[in-house]
Amino acid sequence: MTHVFHRDPRKALPVAVRGDGIWIIDSEGKRYLDASGGAAVSCLGHAHPRITEAIVRQARELEYAHTSFFTTKAAEDLADHLAAHAPGTLNHLYFVSGGSEAVEAALKLARQYYLEIGQPSRHRFIARRQSYHGNTLGALAIGGNAWRREPFRPILIEAHHVSPCYAYRDLRPGESEEDYAVRLAAELEQRLLELGPETVAGFVAETVVGATLGAVPPVADYFRRIRAVCDKYGVLLIQDEVMSGMGRTGYLFACEEDGIVPDIVAIAKGLGGGYQPIGAILARSHIYKALVEGSGFFQHGHTYLAHAIACAAALEVQRTIEEEDLLANVRVRGEQLDRLLREKLARNPHVGDIRGRGLLRGVEIVENRETKAPFDPARRVHAKIKSEAMARGLMTYPMGGTIDGRRGDHVMLAPPFICTAEDIARIVDLLCAAIDAATRAKV
Ligand code: PLP
Repeated sequence: MTHVFHRDPRKALPVAVRGDGIWIIDSEGKRYLDASGGAAVSCLGHAHPRITEAIVRQARELEYAHTSFFTTKAAEDLADHLAAHAPGTLNHLYFVSGGSEAVEAALKLARQYYLEIGQPSRHRFIARRQSYHGNTLGALAIGGNAWRREPFRPILIEAHHVSPCYAYRDLRPGESEEDYAVRLAAELEQRLLELGPETVAGFVAETVVGATLGAVPPVADYFRRIRAVCDKYGVLLIQDEVMSGMGRTGYLFACEEDGIVPDIVAIAKGLGGGYQPIGAILARSHIYKALVEGSGFFQHGHTYLAHAIACAAALEVQRTIEEEDLLANVRVRGEQLDRLLREKLARNPHVGDIRGRGLLRGVEIVENRETKAPFDPARRVHAKIKSEAMARGLMTYPMGGTIDGRRGDHVMLAPPFICTAEDIARIVDLLCAAIDAATRAKV
């Protein structure tokens, strides 16, 4: 009998009792290699002594001070660190408690910005199908996952969706990646013109699409062309790097690899690495200035904004990543992971695509590799991969509905940045065995 309202109350869960680097240990003593960092969260693995010490130090000094009365050194230092490493003028940090809160803050900041600069008609958001921005109502509304949105549709704010950048399925025969990027930018422009660009506040996109598509990066030039369309019509570009940011792709900000600077970026997950619940938005200077010189404040707020222990933990996570040059390890181990997945899964007829950046990698599972036809959703192949992997002591992040919210399966990997070459080899061996077992299994 449990009094915890679990995600899936009919499922019996192992009890996690201890962490040890890349491992989680349950109450029976079974060890699980955390190859997904939970949901791409645990970038430093578990029970890292440096982070736990920083948390204890901050808790002894001061656990919490409400942000309408005080600032704290932890929040100031964390904001300095992130602003110093962010591209362009993304210099202004607003700290919240997670990814959905960060996305909500981004939407409200965009809306208020346009009020401040005298463009009150801008209230609409355009995002992409097959994206995930969180489960609170604003974030769910702009999210493009049909299955997640459907039950709540009557209570969601207005949102408009265009195509994702999903080359594996949507690149047309004979079309170059460059032409594909042009086509997608034209689709956004067309939608803006249909809605009336003067009514649109922002375009929201994950830099690398995480759990919904399974680690799908944009084609080269996609974001440069999207940035140009946003600039042409004065629409803010809001990038969701809740999953792909903070080093996961080998760059602290995933958008650096695309050579553009968004107007607002949302981060979370790897910011605190799971040691504390924390998220943030970074806003460019012109947005911050418009608020400060206009009404003087952001009409928003939560009780736990810039929580002192959360900020102290995140600062220590970020300093550790920098001082131990872990982004270099993400790039090297990411390439190794990609290479081994391609080698070892080459002969599996059910592996359609392998993609990703850094230590964020996805494998799309199909029934038929030639036609890319997915498995019947009733077979729940993604769920089988998860259970086969867990049985082997491997944590992965599979999901169904890859194609349209209903059809398609993929599995995502997001191992900690501290992984060694041996760890990566072990992850690939275990994953291959789990995929083999799940795709062979009959209903
Ligand atoms: N945005 C993206 C891209 C995410 O992957 C997630 C969570 O998976 C969120 C937003 C929501 O974050 P949270 O679950 O911390 O609210």
